[in-house]
Amino acid sequence: MKNVIIIGGGPAGLAASIYLARAGLDPLVFAGSPPGGQLMLTSEVENYPGIENILGPELIEKYRKHAEKFGVKIINQNITKQDLSVSPFSLFTADPDSIGADKNYSTRSVLITTGAKALWLGLESETRLRGKGVSACATCDGFFFKDKVVGVVGGGDTAMEEALTLTKFAKKIYIIHRKDSFRASKIMQERVLKSPKIEVIWNTVVEEILGQNRVESIRLTTGPAPVLLPASATRRELKVDGIFIAIGHKPDTDIFKGQIELDNKGYILTTERVAMESFKGEDSEKIENLKSKIAKFNSEFGSQTSVPGVFAAGDCVDYKYRQAATAVGMAVAAALEVEKYLAD
Ligand SMILES: Cc1cc2nc3c(=O)[nH]c(=O)nc-3n(C[C@H](O)[C@H](O)[C@H](O)COP(=O)(O)OP(=O)(O)OC[C@H]3O[C@@H](n4cnc5c(N)ncnc54)[C@H](O)[C@@H]3O)c2cc1C
Repeated sequence: MKNVIIIGGGPAGLAASIYLARAGLDPLVFAGSPPGGQLMLTSEVENYPGIENILGPELIEKYRKHAEKFGVKIINQNITKQDLSVSPFSLFTADPDSIGADKNYSTRSVLITTGAKALWLGLESETRLRGKGVSACATCDGFFFKDKVVGVVGGGDTAMEEALTLTKFAKKIYIIHRKDSFRASKIMQERVLKSPKIEVIWNTVVEEILGQNRVESIRLTTGPAPVLLPASATRRELKVDGIFIAIGHKPDTDIFKGQIELDNKGYILTTERVAMESFKGEDSEKIENLKSKIAKFNSEFGSQTSVPGVFAAGDCVDYKYRQAATAVGMAVAAALEVEKYLAD
């Protein structure tokens, strides 16, 4: 029987494990397969306080070494299912010693830090040039595009935010959107359309990202919305120094569906998120829905999910800031709450 099992071995899970190990709670981390999370896809990280410049995978290696120094056991396997309906909770992995069988772990508390995945276009050139001009995070990488020309792909709030963030750095931003209108909120659209640095290219998809060692241009196909008909489509090349794919993120929470409360995009609802959402005045139906769930949450623990003893932190909760430092901060708070929960 474990005191606490952490599901996820990105910045959030590993940071929490350091606190829980130093508190003498002997945490077990399932880091996933492949382990490490989103920073494994990142080249330069320049915004993590205290570390001026580091490659994403190296930062993960540092977290792991730090955790292991305090005796944290890290298993590079996925939790495949769980039973959170009764405490102690049961978590399952595929048993490496017996093909087709499950291995069962029992625990008094669970901290979910399974993160999220940025959605990509699925082009070979996009994978090849990732970190070499292709990015999914303007807050992280915008700084590298001072006075450059960049493209942003997408038409939702994420794309609007990415484009607006880039106006602080780039001299010109093209938003490339496959339809003839945005689905982003009105206020975000207005901000984007007002910016003298941003130009929208409607009814257009990125067919290819071009460049040998760095992004040099993109090949665009423009045609009538919503479907690009080959007969009437036109092709052209647009010179850009970088391209930001902003078509959304998917939290890694499918296995928790039906066991803990998730929002309509799959992000985990915690006490703090429910409280924050219920302050927003924009969608009364959503708020009423959240209010009906509030009773399940515990006001003492901001990172508690709808199941007492199950906590969550990092990008699987946070759809907004999505930074290594914010994931770590949330996870440290969650670790302190797990500690208090177990002591109580
Ligand atoms: C291209 C890119 C560049 C970025 N650059 C920066 C940057 O420069 N600076 C910055 O601060 N942030 C950057 N970020 C954001 C940063 O990587 C994330 O905010 C941060 O990694 C979130 O940490 P997390 O631990 O919550 O989740 P993740 O990093 O997503 O980690 C989740 C972990 O959970 C594991 N997991 C998932 N499901 C299971 C399961 N069922 N069982 C066990 N384990 C599971 C995964 O394998 C992974 O180990 C970047 C992101 C991207 C995509």
